[in-house]
Amino acid sequence: MDFEFVRHEPLYDRILLVLTLDRQKMKERILIGEELQIRFRLQGYADAEVLCDVTRPLGAMLSAFEHDPDGEWNRFGLMPLREALHSNRWKQPGLEQASGGFLAKKYLTGDPVRMYVALRIWNEYLKAREPRNREAACERFIGKMNGFTALFMGNPPLDFDEDSGKPKRLNISTHIYGSVPQEDTRLDLWYPDSKRNMECVSAYSSLYPLIIYYLNRLNDWGLYFRKCKICGKVFLAKSQRYELCSDKCRKKQSLQNKREFDERARENNYDLLYKNECQNWRNKINKAKKTPGFPADRLEEMLAAFESFKKEALQRKQAVKKKTASPKEFSDWLLQQSNIIVELAEQEN
Ligand SMILES: [Zn+2]
Repeated sequence: MDFEFVRHEPLYDRILLVLTLDRQKMKERILIGEELQIRFRLQGYADAEVLCDVTRPLGAMLSAFEHDPDGEWNRFGLMPLREALHSNRWKQPGLEQASGGFLAKKYLTGDPVRMYVALRIWNEYLKAREPRNREAACERFIGKMNGFTALFMGNPPLDFDEDSGKPKRLNISTHIYGSVPQEDTRLDLWYPDSKRNMECVSAYSSLYPLIIYYLNRLNDWGLYFRKCKICGKVFLAKSQRYELCSDKCRKKQSLQNKREFDERARENNYDLLYKNECQNWRNKINKAKKTPGFPADRLEEMLAAFESFKKEALQRKQAVKKKTASPKEFSDWLLQQSNIIVELAEQEN
């Protein structure tokens, strides 16, 4: 069954969004359509006419939830239709086209939440065109649809704390000014196979309770949303301590760990070379001090050379740390420096 964003007979039956979660298979399934058809489909009749029937990994609906901080759904989806209900028949086609284009694009993403809201807005508009009192019908239409678009504008259901990577708790009262409307707190629970195998929830007026149901179920099942440290993907984990989404990312992480380890080893290595070189200089100087008749001015020279060697080494070490120089450049330089002290120590008078 297809849906078109042009003038046609509205669908008069309630169009529902039905969600069922499968803990064993870690899947979510979302259906959109009339109740009777959805029930047929759930019983296994593949030819039942629904507008959408998708199965995705558990958590997909929440992690991909439409987020519209700039209020585009209002501006491009709702407002032109509101204007159309208030304007003369010549202006209506243009306004309908503008809104229909926006909603069709959202519908074609195939994301069930976007599909559902786009379809509901268009269908409710078609219904609002029918009553004689358009003003009142328009008020009802905007009133009903506002809740959906406001939901997209609020904080997304999954908002992650920047520091801890843990999801923040959803608080629906921040989305809605004043008291929470009844429809945002009520949800239809179905057991369509009349056994205990399948549990569904069905939403019509609001998607809030559906989100809350979803979050609560995952919580009951001990599943946590996490954001992968490597690829940034949102995934469900059996414990808060998991930070990586897949074997691929685990492999990447261990490679990265090894690289970091090697780098540290290399850093330690050039540091060690430097320390050895310092010791070498000190040995030479001490030997000179103990040598009877060693020229005092040359000893002064050696001490001064040692100071400037240490000073320059410090700067070069910093450069390696900041990665503006390589450890190899540093060790090559160290090697050259060791000639200076050797020459000063062994120069003939
Ligand atoms: Zn990942």
